[in-house]
Amino acid sequence: MDTCIFCKIIKGEIPNYTVYEDEKVLAFLDIHPHAKGHTVVVPKVHAENYFDINEDLLEHLSLGVKRAMEKIDKVLNPDGYNVGWNQGEVAGQVVPHLHIHIMPRWEGDGGGSMHSVISNDGGISVEEVNKLFL
Ligand code: AMP
Ligand code: ZN
Repeated sequence: MDTCIFCKIIKGEIPNYTVYEDEKVLAFLDIHPHAKGHTVVVPKVHAENYFDINEDLLEHLSLGVKRAMEKIDKVLNPDGYNVGWNQGEVAGQVVPHLHIHIMPRWEGDGGGSMHSVISNDGGISVEEVNKLFL
């Protein structure tokens, strides 16, 4: 992907602050951090989202997230983490190359939990939603 900013980072055309790297994944500091040590972990092969990525690579990406967290833990020693990704524009995905956000958390940092991302049940009960899965 010639225009993808994260592909350019992976190719070394744009600099990054690397937290962890192996042959399949790269983890680097987010340039607009929402927490000290805010890191994004990306597969080195371009894939837009979780549906597009080869499952072997997805397993390795998960390992890369853990390795990056271990490094952050050693260097910054946070009290906790929020880890996740934005999938799709409506969910806030701006860069169309899958990236897992690691947000280190500290006591009293003023942030919320994953639950603070959205609080709108769509006006349908859990029972009704469950019926759709049957
Ligand atoms: P998302 O909204 O999930 O697509 O997040 C994209 C993230 O990429 C944002 O948090 C940006 O701050 C981050 N970002 C964009 N460009 C760069 C860059 N050149 N180096 C590091 N992080 C970047
Ligand atoms: Zn890309």
